[in-house]
Amino acid sequence: MSYDAIIIGAGPAGCSAALALAGMGRRVAIVEQSLFPRKKVCGEYMSAVNLDLLDRLGAGAAVRARAGPSVRRVALFASGPAVEAGMPRAPGGAFGCALGRDVLDSVLLQAATDSGAAVFQPWRTVDVCAGGAAAAVRIESAGESRVLTADVVIAAHGSWARGPLPSQLERQNRRQDFFGFKAHFRGASLAADLMPLLVFPGGYGGMVWADQGRLSLSCCIRRDALAQVRDLYNAPAAQAVFAHILASCPAARIALGGAALDGAWLAAGPIRPGVRASYAADIFRVGNIAGECHPIIAEGIAMALQSGWLLA
Ligand SMILES: Cc1cc2nc3c(=O)[nH]c(=O)nc-3n(C[C@H](O)[C@H](O)[C@H](O)COP(=O)(O)OP(=O)(O)OC[C@H]3O[C@@H](n4cnc5c(N)ncnc54)[C@H](O)[C@@H]3O)c2cc1C
Repeated sequence: MSYDAIIIGAGPAGCSAALALAGMGRRVAIVEQSLFPRKKVCGEYMSAVNLDLLDRLGAGAAVRARAGPSVRRVALFASGPAVEAGMPRAPGGAFGCALGRDVLDSVLLQAATDSGAAVFQPWRTVDVCAGGAAAAVRIESAGESRVLTADVVIAAHGSWARGPLPSQLERQNRRQDFFGFKAHFRGASLAADLMPLLVFPGGYGGMVWADQGRLSLSCCIRRDALAQVRDLYNAPAAQAVFAHILASCPAARIALGGAALDGAWLAAGPIRPGVRASYAADIFRVGNIAGECHPIIAEGIAMALQSGWLLA
């Protein structure tokens, strides 16, 4: 089967590109290696600017209906007393909110499917041969292999996983690398409209109420600090990082005192902040693989959505 565009990855960047292209009548295929719903290392906060674009893409109502409470205040939870400030409204008066990535990415992919995109899931893209009249993309699933062809290939596969594709990043191992961790909690005592930034030796993180009464806690920690806390707490990485956060941030300790972990901790990394090529080796790139900010600014979803839409 031949398409106008094949998109590798069904995160916010890939779904945004697929929705925009399908909305213009293009024949689009999305190849996603994971079955959805799937959880992801991400703080899950979406600034209000996302909502306008999601409306344009036809997914705004579904996202609003599922998202957690409006975030009207931010706070800093470090070693001393917590400090708070109001969150500015976006033009139009909206506030940002959080939605679990298991839900958000499923909603976006369903919208892309409804728009006419062909979805290959769970299929992994293992090779791209671009540059000729039509690009050939080889995908694999459960021992089966297929080749799809298209005029254009768009890499939206994120930046954290290694792999054989020309658009994927090489492995790196530096002392200053940051690793990401994330978990959901239930029963936390944090005001519904408050999003605290957590600052602790060697890293930072954040907490926000997402959908279905889940509190999302995500953080990044430097490689050398991670090694130290693993030694200190003699625990697996995520548990050691969590103990380090609780020991370093008294306000986080209070908020999470009666909370229960909901599901497993997730880990990813090293994360790869930086601006990279948006087109190289005859492959367009959107989302994290084209450019990634430090998660502290919580704009990665917005950048992914906007870059997919802009490319389309
Ligand atoms: C700790 C942490 C906290 C964060 N918090 C926030 C936050 O609160 N708000 C915010 O806006 N951003 C946040 N971010 C950033 C945000 O998670 C990313 O910027 C965003 O997920 C990028 O979207 P994407 O679509 O480019 O890639 P991804 O979301 O990574 O999606 C890529 C998709 O491609 C698929 N894929 C990969 N390889 C293949 C392949 N070979 N074949 C088929 N499919 C493939 C993957 O399975 C995945 O579904 C955070 C990041 C970290 C590390």
